[in-house]
Amino acid sequence: MITSTTGPQPADFADVRATNLAVVLRFVREHAPCSRADIAATTGLNKATVSSLVADLIDRRLVRETGLTENRVGRPATMLVLDGSPYAAIGVEINVDHVSAVATDLAGERLLTWRRSFSAGDSVSQGVASVGAIVRRVINRMAKEERQVLGLAVAVPGLVDVQGTVRLAPNLGWRDADLGGDLAKALRDPGFPIQVDNDANLAALAEQRFGAHAGAADLVYLTGEIGVGAGIILDGRLRRGGLGYSGEIGHVQLDPDGPPCHCGRRGCLEAMAGIGSVLRGAPAPAEIHPAEIQIEIEEVVRLARAGDAGTLATLSAAGRSLGRGVSILANLLDPEVVVLGGYYVPLAPWLLPAVHAELGHRVLAPDAGGCRVVASTLGQDAAALGGAARVLDSVDSGRLPGGLSRIP
Ligand SMILES: [Zn+2]
Repeated sequence: MITSTTGPQPADFADVRATNLAVVLRFVREHAPCSRADIAATTGLNKATVSSLVADLIDRRLVRETGLTENRVGRPATMLVLDGSPYAAIGVEINVDHVSAVATDLAGERLLTWRRSFSAGDSVSQGVASVGAIVRRVINRMAKEERQVLGLAVAVPGLVDVQGTVRLAPNLGWRDADLGGDLAKALRDPGFPIQVDNDANLAALAEQRFGAHAGAADLVYLTGEIGVGAGIILDGRLRRGGLGYSGEIGHVQLDPDGPPCHCGRRGCLEAMAGIGSVLRGAPAPAEIHPAEIQIEIEEVVRLARAGDAGTLATLSAAGRSLGRGVSILANLLDPEVVVLGGYYVPLAPWLLPAVHAELGHRVLAPDAGGCRVVASTLGQDAAALGGAARVLDSVDSGRLPGGLSRIP
């Protein structure tokens, strides 16, 4: 298990003990199995403090001792691993035609992945009812497994401000929605924090924690849904910008004379390399019924495999436009890796050659600044998984669940 390379520093927190608990927990997450002496040697905390902190984490059932011992000079050391069996983190993703829910344990092991249908154009209150229904089922399942829910984070395709208000989700038709507050009411104040974030941001967190390039300090995730957005991780941290609106790469204009975008402008990346342009050869995302997209993509893949010239030309053109967008990211941010998600994943074998060629032409730094462009390996629910990752990040940053009573 790998987490971000930057973490809480003791000076960041008034509560030194809570901070030190988080430091020890992160160490165990990243280095388990490890001993108390390993923790002391690496963190600089003294051994007595480490013993006390570990006892607290064992009380909270966040860490447990294994029967294993490490052979050392002198007496053997008992090894520690993450426990977290009584806990769960929940992530939910709202998409234009479905809602996904993922629950993981503290170590990030997936406990469940559920989906239910959803209609873009539903009002916010209908959306809250749909999300509330699936979350209630997840909470009930977790209760049956005797797990305490640590938190919920909800991914929304749109602009979400730093307070978690959905300012604008054009493909859902939502504006200025206090989704977190409404969900808390729908769930009757469930006693755990509810966070709301942009889908690309949360998918980037999922890649950083669980993806094939987990641990990358500089990573950009590009959603390939009806819209195209970027989740940006720099120096190990998600970068949301001043108000939380960073990453709208889909509306960077590539061609002022280009095709109209549903945002009202022309020649946006989304209009030239979004899934609508791939499927129609022209930007018409609003005209594609979400339920048809998967079927149409399978047809595009079949035609591409068969060498259909028109299909290959369309994919190549979309790949070139996508490559121009990725080149802007590479020149501006110099990421180690750009991960293509969503519907880009099945099309990646035909998009990536053109993307790489554009990077070679357009990025000033030699070898495109070392930027690799890859398809996500996390599957379709990356943003939901990222919601769970965000909850786990909160725990790693010091928001620990309360101590559990000792079993006599
Ligand atoms: Zn646009």
